[in-house]
This record gives sequence, structure tokens and C-alpha cells, in this order.
Amino acid sequence: MRHKTRWPKVTAEKKSVEELLKEMKKPGSTDANYRERSLKIHGLICAKCGREFDLSTKNLLTVHHRDGNHKNNPPDGSNWENLCIYCHDDEHSRGVLGDYLTKG
Ligand SMILES: [Zn+2]
Ligand SMILES: [Zn+2]
Repeated sequence: MRHKTRWPKVTAEKKSVEELLKEMKKPGSTDANYRERSLKIHGLICAKCGREFDLSTKNLLTVHHRDGNHKNNPPDGSNWENLCIYCHDDEHSRGVLGDYLTKG
């Protein structure tokens, strides 16, 4: 008849809160945000070819990380460059990706 011990339940609840906080800090959610922020900071224009975009075409504009580190997302946008998908592809095929292939 010892069904009144409540403390294990409290511990479980506390754990789920921590779990929730972890969920909020998932890199996935910040990924979606940095793109919007970069577009806001640098504008809807490709940094390479200068092509301009608007709300209906901004899905063609992507965020490039200058140092190639996708986890380096300073709030001032200094590591971001807005590139259209064509320039972005170009950038990686001869830049970062090239290095990557050379290093094996
Ligand atoms: Zn471009
Ligand atoms: Zn890139």
C-alpha cells in the first residue's frame, strides 16, 4: 500500500521541461531564422551577380557562409552572403567544395 510516493513524478516533470528547452535550442529552428535575418540585413540582392529579388522570387536567393561553417551565425550577419542559387552553386563548386575534394 505505498502508492502515495509523489516525488518521482515531480522529477519526471522537471525532466520534460529540460527536454522542452532543448527542443527550442535545436539547430534546425535557428537555421530557418538565419536565412530570414540575412535577407533582412543584406537585402534581397545577390552579392555576386547583383541580381535583385522580391518576395515572390526570394526562394532563389540563398545564404552562403563566408567561412564555410554553417554553425557560425553571428547576429550582425558578417558571416553571411546572399547568393542566388546559380552563384551559390558556382561558389561551392570551385571554392569550398573544391578544397574539400582536394583534401579528400
Ligand atoms: Zn547571383
Ligand atoms: Zn554556401
